[in-house]
Amino acid sequence: MTGFSDVALVGFVAIAIALAVMLVSYRRWREVTARADAARWAHRDALTGLPDRVVFHDRLQAALDRPGRAFVGVFVIDIDRYRLVNDSYGQRAGDEVLASVAERMHAVLGPDDLLVRLAGDQFGVLCPNLYDARQAEQVADRIRQGLVRPFNVDGEQLWLTACIGVALDDNGDATAGALQRDAETALERAQSAGPGHHVLLDRSTRAATADRHDLARRLRAALRLGQFRLRYQPLVSTTNGHVVGVEALLRWEDPLRGQVQPDDFIPVLEETDLIVPVGAWVLEEACRQAATWRRSGPPAADLTISVNVAPRQLAHPDFVATVARALETTGANPRQLCLEITEAALIEDMDFVQRQLSRIRDLGVRLAVDDFGTGYSSVSYVRRFPLDAVKIDKSFVQGLTAGAEDAAIAQAIIKMAHALGLSTVAEGVESADELARLQQLGCDLVQGFYFSAPLTADAVDGLMRAGRELAIAG
Ligand code: C2E
Ligand code: MG
Ligand code: MG
Repeated sequence: MTGFSDVALVGFVAIAIALAVMLVSYRRWREVTARADAARWAHRDALTGLPDRVVFHDRLQAALDRPGRAFVGVFVIDIDRYRLVNDSYGQRAGDEVLASVAERMHAVLGPDDLLVRLAGDQFGVLCPNLYDARQAEQVADRIRQGLVRPFNVDGEQLWLTACIGVALDDNGDATAGALQRDAETALERAQSAGPGHHVLLDRSTRAATADRHDLARRLRAALRLGQFRLRYQPLVSTTNGHVVGVEALLRWEDPLRGQVQPDDFIPVLEETDLIVPVGAWVLEEACRQAATWRRSGPPAADLTISVNVAPRQLAHPDFVATVARALETTGANPRQLCLEITEAALIEDMDFVQRQLSRIRDLGVRLAVDDFGTGYSSVSYVRRFPLDAVKIDKSFVQGLTAGAEDAAIAQAIIKMAHALGLSTVAEGVESADELARLQQLGCDLVQGFYFSAPLTADAVDGLMRAGRELAIAG
């Protein structure tokens, strides 16, 4: 009996210990899962139920670390003009739209892809299994297609688009941070191209991006070190051959490359907003030259100087003050200054641009629309904005003698401009035939290598003193 009760006791104790161990393990398991749940939910966005950027970063790192992996793609998606949704329909409707956007995007992604909400109206997508850039482009297209159907907001239909920046690690050596930064850079470029665009950075474009960063750095130094110069190209009257003005054209004296032409660096100035301080330098330098010519008396005293203004300069709230300051500090006469605006700048935010241009006009400064015919070429904006002149793009001038089409376009532009009381300037005139044709069409001024290339200020002085004029036939 004793033997039996001993065995029973041992058995009982063993069962009790086992139960205690199970209880402790269960409690610990409960604690661990509760903590994991808490961690998961701490990194989840309450509005869309999507994970956040912490999860995105971890999963991106894991995807990059996986041996034998395919290419990894990072997408950053930003809803265009989302602020307007909130402003016009209120926060609640804005939230609903974001939740629907998240659902639509989720629906077009594959099972291995991760969708997160990065911030506000910005989403991130991680595709860990891509084989080439084409496939990454297809994902971007699917995301955009997902947004094509209208959204329902308070019974109204709302159409949305998004810009997408894509970074593809097709080199196998990118870090998580670098890929995310590249995707953000790509997004910025997509946004500056306009709503609904996407830009992809892969191995080849990334090398170009590094070059651009380097160029931006050297341009910033160029401004500080005084390496920019202006050249002046004469504008000549087609009726009497007199030089009536010049266009100021920017050059960069790069110690490494020698003189660099604007087409090779202005796009980078525009992308980085460096165009704003560099443009202010151009304005002041051109006004200083205008004032110098004015003081020097005839024959250069009445020359006008045309200065190119990039869309971003015009969009800057301080632009009018910058123009006024350049005139004031140099003592230039506002009538000597003409600003050349491109068509792209005119259509951006029409009301704002109209106000800016009117204020510039009020200073007494003249305005011309540059490269006319290459962009939107709308008669309505030529009427709407307070312009003085239209510059016909050189592509039409160069086609003048070749075919009937360009001649017809040039003729139409000249007729329209004159009907609206604006003068006309033809750019890129290279031959006597082109000049003769433009005279027939009644174009007022010409500019081009046929008369003169862009010159230093001293060379313009020389030309004026020599009394050089455009030989006008007949
Ligand atoms: P743009 O304002 O249309 O300037 C005219 C361009 O045509 C100049 O090029 C000029 O050198 C070139 N050109 C003049 N005559 C002829 C010709 O007979 N044939 C041909 N094929 N070309 C001719 P450039 O100096 O290389 O400037 C290019 C563009 O860079 C300018 O086009 C303007 O849009 C921009 N740019 C130049 N300077 C500035 C500046 O200070 N600020 C800004 N924002 N843009 C500038
Ligand atoms: Mg110009
Ligand atoms: Mg032009």
